Amino acid sequence: MTRCRMCQSEDLRLFLDLGATAPADEFLTKEELAAPQTAYPLQVMSCGGCGLVQLGQVVDPEILYQKDYPYEASVTRAGRRHWDEFAATACTMMRLGSSDLVVDFGSNVGVLLEMFAARGPRVLGIDPAPNIVAIANGRGVETLCGFFNVRTAEAALTLKGQAKVIAATNVFAHIDDLDEVMAAVDSLLTPDGAFIVEAPSLANLVHHLEYDTIYHEHLSYISVKPLAAFLARFGMHIFDIHEKDIHGGSIRIFIRRDGAPGPDATDAVARHLEIEDKEGVYDMARLERFAEDVAENRRQIREIIGELKDQGKRIVGVSAPAKGMTLLNYCGLGKDVLDFVTEKSRLKIGKFTPGQHLPVLPDEALMEERPDYALLLAWNFAEEIMGNLSDYADAGGKFIIPIPTPRIVE
Ligand SMILES: [Zn+2]
Repeated sequence: MTRCRMCQSEDLRLFLDLGATAPADEFLTKEELAAPQTAYPLQVMSCGGCGLVQLGQVVDPEILYQKDYPYEASVTRAGRRHWDEFAATACTMMRLGSSDLVVDFGSNVGVLLEMFAARGPRVLGIDPAPNIVAIANGRGVETLCGFFNVRTAEAALTLKGQAKVIAATNVFAHIDDLDEVMAAVDSLLTPDGAFIVEAPSLANLVHHLEYDTIYHEHLSYISVKPLAAFLARFGMHIFDIHEKDIHGGSIRIFIRRDGAPGPDATDAVARHLEIEDKEGVYDMARLERFAEDVAENRRQIREIIGELKDQGKRIVGVSAPAKGMTLLNYCGLGKDVLDFVTEKSRLKIGKFTPGQHLPVLPDEALMEERPDYALLLAWNFAEEIMGNLSDYADAGGKFIIPIPTPRIVE
């Protein structure tokens, strides 16, 4: 990629290189292990024009999403609570009634839309992964199969009419052609509607050293300054921003047409611009220091795990989220140090992790095998996971939390 996807500037500056990496959601069957693993560069750039942090290369979305995409959004309790609160907030803020339509794109198996439907509005999902769409429709959440673009927006319009809320949770940052997304939003959104984008925030990523949220699906790392300038090109603006704890710190951004009726805009944009300046997310020297801290984190993780292996300890990974694959691959944690990883999702169990080819076993394997240490790859849900694994801890099992500073929890 040679141009910034928000401002078209060619002034893209590399500050972090995580190395050639397999796509984080490409879990492999036993038969697929024999084929050579395809890896793509994972390089992070800052735009000198608008400040958007983004990947330097775009992997074809057909490769990333349409082949048995293994992510089901409903698997954690904390996740379900989060989506319920999202729906409650949007219903109140936008005064949604039973005739209003909510469209969610990248709707996965329909968890968020179920929460909306329970409160009255009509709902429609749009998602590109056929296996996921089949699950959503099977659960009674009407879902179209496709990427969100002008064509699928027209299909939604024909089927259901305009939407008073268009939601995009953990998907906006995944899309290369954002101009197309805005054209689709423009055709589908009612004049008084809200486009609600939720994504991990760059300020949190930098502050908490969350480099493992960098993988090929995440093309952009969302911050308010470049987004506000981008939206202005389409006659839209941000009228509120809520901070959320999920995924290591996300921002929920409320967007509407310029001149649209509704609640007064809050001071959230100004407040977030201050936070971003304080974190230094538009400062190359700060971003380069971030990259040095990432390298130091790897050194410490390898040191801790190397010492434990020298003592003959058995270590496994717990849960296999996409972010965990960045950590395993960047830190080079393979079969020589980790016996296996465990996971709840039946879409991953029985397969092998991309890149390191670790076997994925069900969570029960932890109690059956009783390894000495469990490396928490979904460290953002560490409390819930350690709570669920209290039997393992009671039996003497210990946890390793890798980020921001690797530490052992006994
Ligand atoms: Zn830019």
